[in-house]
Amino acid sequence: TDANRPLIAGNWKMNGLKGSAAEFDAMLKGAAEVAAKADLLVCPPATLITAFADKARGSKVAVGAQDCHPKASGAHTGDIAAEMLADAGATAIIVGHSERRADHGEGDALIRQKAEAAWRAGVTAIVCIGETQGQRDAGQTLDILRGQLDGSLPDGSTAANLVVAYEPVWAIGTGLTPTAQDVEQIHSFIRELLTSRFRVDGARMRILYGGSVKPSNAAELMSVKNVNGALVGGASLKAADFLAIAKGC
Ligand code: PEP
Repeated sequence: TDANRPLIAGNWKMNGLKGSAAEFDAMLKGAAEVAAKADLLVCPPATLITAFADKARGSKVAVGAQDCHPKASGAHTGDIAAEMLADAGATAIIVGHSERRADHGEGDALIRQKAEAAWRAGVTAIVCIGETQGQRDAGQTLDILRGQLDGSLPDGSTAANLVVAYEPVWAIGTGLTPTAQDVEQIHSFIRELLTSRFRVDGARMRILYGGSVKPSNAAELMSVKNVNGALVGGASLKAADFLAIAKGC
């Protein structure tokens, strides 16, 4: 669970019904072959976590969640606590995805509380950061990322309990990706900030790249320095694509 071993994490977003178990079965079947290269994590919608986690027991695939509420329980209709997700079998929770930041107005302070909630439940937090197209065009990318890291990563973050996912918002679901040079520059900037704040743990923390990762570009992106895996949206819905991405590590 550190930067020396890549993590390929799939974010299914709001996709998947009980019938998707067949696709997940295909992932489990192919996982042994890629397990030497990378850790695999699938984050289905919350409704499927229990079923997938039951299937995945003893396999090389871990199951995660896409969001959580900061509190452990209480009067929060429709929300799901990190403890519930852990109870269902999740071993990691994505927090601060740009779609949550945009669709639900989530800010850094709330995301930080959600990351702490994941720890409280005993699971890893995968904290997403990333600039929008407008911020990029205005030359604000590094300032935005610095602010998001400062604000959404809790004190006490370690290589074991936290993963950073750099996901340029303009690259998510668009087929666009930054150049390898851009990714290298940004991941090295993130690494510097992590190391200066978290010292040895910051040096070992995984930094995933996310945004239109697919089998045809994964190997190049994964070979970039300080890229320690991928957060994959659309291409994680198909076992063949998801496994091919992991094979490219
Ligand atoms: C994501 O939303 O986490 C993501 C990376 O999506 P996609 O791979 O579809 O761009």
